[in-house]
Amino acid sequence: MSIPRNQQEELFSADKELADFLTADDPMMVFSREIYPAFKDEEFAQCYSTKGRWATSPAFLACVTILQFRENVVITEKEIDRKVFIQAEEIQIPKQTIFDPRDLSLKLGKKASKGWVGSKCHVVETSQKGKFNFITNMIYQQAQAHDCNIHEKLREGNEYRGLEPEKMYGDMSYINGGAICEYRKHGQELMGYIRGQHAKKPEKFKAYSFSIDMQKLQTICPAGQLASHTVLQKDGYVGFQFRQSTCVKCSFWNECVGTTTPSGRKISVSPYYDYIRERREKQKSEAFRKEMSVRAQIEGTISEGTRFHGLRHARYHGEFGHQMQFYLTGAAINVKRLIRAITRGVDISNKAALACKT
Ligand code: SF4
Repeated sequence: MSIPRNQQEELFSADKELADFLTADDPMMVFSREIYPAFKDEEFAQCYSTKGRWATSPAFLACVTILQFRENVVITEKEIDRKVFIQAEEIQIPKQTIFDPRDLSLKLGKKASKGWVGSKCHVVETSQKGKFNFITNMIYQQAQAHDCNIHEKLREGNEYRGLEPEKMYGDMSYINGGAICEYRKHGQELMGYIRGQHAKKPEKFKAYSFSIDMQKLQTICPAGQLASHTVLQKDGYVGFQFRQSTCVKCSFWNECVGTTTPSGRKISVSPYYDYIRERREKQKSEAFRKEMSVRAQIEGTISEGTRFHGLRHARYHGEFGHQMQFYLTGAAINVKRLIRAITRGVDISNKAALACKT
């Protein structure tokens, strides 16, 4: 990549183009007027080759980085002993960060300790033991969206392809009570482990150790006390509260409530708690663990997509471009598998062949 000398484009020209919409002291106007002109492409010349096609203006990219930083921090001023301190606090999960002005669909994604910028691809494939399996869908999702929100698209994809799997297998991030319930309404079972509870309480005093009756909306704690209040919370969760007067007298106070101020224990559970409890019980069994081993094969497919088909790097801009890359990658993997199956004379089930065709 090279940069054109002495031809820096006026990419940040909000002060001219947006003068009718923005006030003179708007941060974008101030930035365009006073900061952007201070950056010159020539100052970055040493970082670029003199050959190759023209790169995006490095002065412009530098300004995007500064704007991003400005967007991701909250700046507050404090005055202590007549001295002014400026405090910059980083926002951990920004929602509107601009990562590339040419592709506004790019978002910051986070999973466990890993973060990335771009989008997410959900890989769906058949899972028939002893048969060649084929990719049935590669679904685009914005990077910051939760995996659990993909089920509707997933079911639509299956219906469109005439696939009616009895069971769908997913990792922990796809499983919650609401999703299990929804699949059952469609006559399917969503298989996968449900998460444990993060609360730093001894096992015996975590919410799922309480005896919860979602039909009667009652709960009994490990000490045998009945919750005094039940509240339907704004997020749809059901809250149970125990009387302060009961809890402060309880010998389990420290382990169960453990606050410095006297209060009653509160727990809140999903409205689909019955499905969660059932899954928690089921996932302890050896049979469940054995059945879930079938999910492991998707890791090989994801690895094939990222290592051999460049799935970790977006080739095209925008949601449409990303989705197109996902489809083409899935198609390429299916073609390879199909050829392998044909050359080995392996039987391909009707369902798998159908998936491969679409
Ligand atoms: S502290 Fe309250 S909720 Fe916890 S076990 Fe004792 S009575 Fe039950």
